[in-house]
Amino acid sequence: MSSPAQTNVAFDGRFARELPEMAIPWQADGAPDPRLLVLNEPLAIELGLDPISLRTSEGLLLLIGNSIPEGATPVAQAYAGHQFGGYSPRLGDGRALLLGEVVDTEGRLRDLHLKGSGRTPFARGGDGLAAVGPMLREYVVSEAVNAIGIPTTRSLAVVATGRPVQRETQLPGALLTRVASSHLRVGSFQYARARDDVHLLRRLADHAIARHYPGAAEAENPYLALFQDVTAAQASLVAQWMLVGFIHGVMNTDNMTISGETIDYGPCAFLEGFDPATVYSSIDQTGRYAYGNQPLVAEWNLARLAEALLPLLHDDQEQAVALAVESLEAFRSQYSAAWLAGMKAKLGLHKDTDDDVTSPLVDELLALLQEGHVDYTSFFRNLGKSPRGDAEPARGMVLDLAAFDAWVDRWHALDPDADAMDRVNPVYIPRNHLVEEALGAATLGDLAPLEKLLVAVTNPYDERPGLERYAAPAPEDFGAYRTFCGT
Ligand code: AMP
Ligand code: MG
Repeated sequence: MSSPAQTNVAFDGRFARELPEMAIPWQADGAPDPRLLVLNEPLAIELGLDPISLRTSEGLLLLIGNSIPEGATPVAQAYAGHQFGGYSPRLGDGRALLLGEVVDTEGRLRDLHLKGSGRTPFARGGDGLAAVGPMLREYVVSEAVNAIGIPTTRSLAVVATGRPVQRETQLPGALLTRVASSHLRVGSFQYARARDDVHLLRRLADHAIARHYPGAAEAENPYLALFQDVTAAQASLVAQWMLVGFIHGVMNTDNMTISGETIDYGPCAFLEGFDPATVYSSIDQTGRYAYGNQPLVAEWNLARLAEALLPLLHDDQEQAVALAVESLEAFRSQYSAAWLAGMKAKLGLHKDTDDDVTSPLVDELLALLQEGHVDYTSFFRNLGKSPRGDAEPARGMVLDLAAFDAWVDRWHALDPDADAMDRVNPVYIPRNHLVEEALGAATLGDLAPLEKLLVAVTNPYDERPGLERYAAPAPEDFGAYRTFCGT
């Protein structure tokens, strides 16, 4: 079948071809009444797709996988994973499909993927479907994370299917069309390792190297270099999450990419009042994936990746373990360096400012924020007004004014750059109460709040009149917020 929406774009099925053991050819369910809820036009253009054509009924069929572009081989991908610490040997795309890969207008290989496209052989007890709310949540939050400047999968479109989905109540169904530099996960390697087929594991590693870390192919030990590259990418990614107050919510190993992109926006949320123990996810009852635990969890997940890679690292298992342990040790220093560099930027300090001066300054500031449960995002934005002569907006947010004043004096002595602060401290994040408001309205058919929220969060650093409520913390009566798993 051909579609006017894809005339210029060649689809490939590279993953399906190179790793057939991990790809089950499958078809998306039909949708009784497909209706476009949101289309990411800039992303469509980036992919070489024509937004006008995508809006036609034929274009919608492409977006939901009912019109298969030439060259595409839709597959359900196999992966394993540790979920909340417990190992599941066979997860896989239970309600998702990889449509295929395209080369975008900048020559980069991107996956086109469907989420909510019906049951697959990996569906187990699930219905294979997704509801409008959670798919729009992924759309909004992933696009916000991208606009902030953090690596992430992207969202091309959400299409309502016209099919109801049974959850606690009956909800309108939808499908997300997702774009990623790949869908290779730590869990993909766990799956290949568990098959006890070192040739499969090597092919998977070679595929990952070719797609994400071509430099590793030149290394003396390419698979060790792959592990080191993933470790560095994740150290940088999680540092960026922490700096902006992002809580992933479900950092299972199947939800951690090899590319270093954020993936699988389920019970995610942005921190409001600063507290490392913050958990918003209703399914995270022990706080395993609390805000402050994220670096440790990332390191734990990388240890699982290392275990999966062991047979490729060295023929001798003891030496393989030694290499893995040594490489994993780099995570902490890489993470700390990325985080401290980011904190310097948030405080408008020159990158050469002495770490021994910056570190205690940052620690003291965070203690002040924690003490007052201060809104993290608006505090840093307000703090940027202080070098311009107005400390009051930030000062008014903390409890211990004397400590704050003393802190500001020390900080000002380092000559902070207010304009640089405004370039890294967002005004607009997808605040939980605004996301809930937008998803609730969209579920009832009103897309206006979602569209306005997208205007704010996809241009997060540029303060604009009329968007004041998108910069403000949740009202008191919003209460102790909980998100439910994005199913
Ligand atoms: P997630 O929590 O979204 O990362 O998903 C974990 C696993 O459960 C993956 O293998 C998903 O494909 C699968 N899954 C989640 N929701 C559903 C559903 N409604 N139907 C089938 N499989 C699902
Ligand atoms: Mg997942």
